[in-house]
Amino acid sequence: MEFETNPCIRCGKERIKGKVKFINTDSRKTKLTMYVCPDRECQKIVEAELAAKEERKLALTNRRTHYPPKKKSN
Ligand SMILES: [Zn+2]
Repeated sequence: MEFETNPCIRCGKERIKGKVKFINTDSRKTKLTMYVCPDRECQKIVEAELAAKEERKLALTNRRTHYPPKKKSN
């Protein structure tokens, strides 16, 4: 295993190993290790920002796949 630096995007502190997630891709299970900021408050903010970003992305893809009904302008 190689060591990678993975600094926090907010404070630049070296991230620590956090939760381990298992995601199912096809018939395989993939282990996903989450790295979190050692500063709890900072990590909270980072997560909130990330969630907001994801939401925006999701909203965009939703808009692309499901066109909103056209409003009659007259
Ligand atoms: Zn941080």
